[in-house]
Amino acid sequence: MPELPEVETSRRGIEPHIKGKLFKTVTVRQPKLRWPVPDTLAVDLPNLRLDSVERRGKYLLLNTASGTLILHLGMSGNLRITSADQPVGKHDHIDFMFDDGTVLRFNDQRRFGAVLWTDAAIMSHPLLASLGPEPLLADFNADYLQQRAARRNVPLKSLIMDSHVVVGVGNIYASESLFLAGLLPTRPAGQLSYAEHEALTAAIKTVLQQSIDQGGTTLRDFAQADGKPGYFKQSLRVYGRAGADCLRCAAPIQQVKIGQRASYFCANCQR
Ligand SMILES: [Zn+2]
Repeated sequence: MPELPEVETSRRGIEPHIKGKLFKTVTVRQPKLRWPVPDTLAVDLPNLRLDSVERRGKYLLLNTASGTLILHLGMSGNLRITSADQPVGKHDHIDFMFDDGTVLRFNDQRRFGAVLWTDAAIMSHPLLASLGPEPLLADFNADYLQQRAARRNVPLKSLIMDSHVVVGVGNIYASESLFLAGLLPTRPAGQLSYAEHEALTAAIKTVLQQSIDQGGTTLRDFAQADGKPGYFKQSLRVYGRAGADCLRCAAPIQQVKIGQRASYFCANCQR
């Protein structure tokens, strides 16, 4: 499933190819995504200039002067830069063609992704309005997290995976961040010291930034016909390593379910 680093990598992969160009045509082959693709896209988009591609959480925002195209990759979506003469694959649901012939192709095998349009203020959109801060920006810090954790007894892992608290910390990154910070995923969130909040916010930023940096090596794939642009192998310290040796102390990595999600930790290195 594409997580924040994959979505950010997709943003960086597509923007240089389409920024500043005019939408020319929209071809919708399959409108049944997570929500129906608006049938007005083919009327609304042509002749609008794509000013920028931004990211908020796991949403990609393609901004024009008249509104914003909202893209979400769901469980299996990917975006590719191609041309109209490239053969269309089974799950290539939507083509956005630009005035120079460049095509942005949306592919999504499981169809949990979304393509929506709004001409209202984008950050007030119902999908975006209640999202917590971006983990890589300065307003996600120890002061903020301590305030959000105060008097809460939820497991720490559940707190940082709550998109109202902070966006983009998926299941893998939550386990990895907690290991790096030396904190047990089951710790009651309200019990952390300020220093532990500092360690945790720093670890989340480090883990996500390292993953985005790894994704940077795939950027040229966005304009290639094969492969799945935006997906890349990550180096994981604890996630998926139950029973294997902790990379820090060699004790066996343990697994526990928190909120139905598999969580991995070292009982020796994490408190
Ligand atoms: Zn350990």
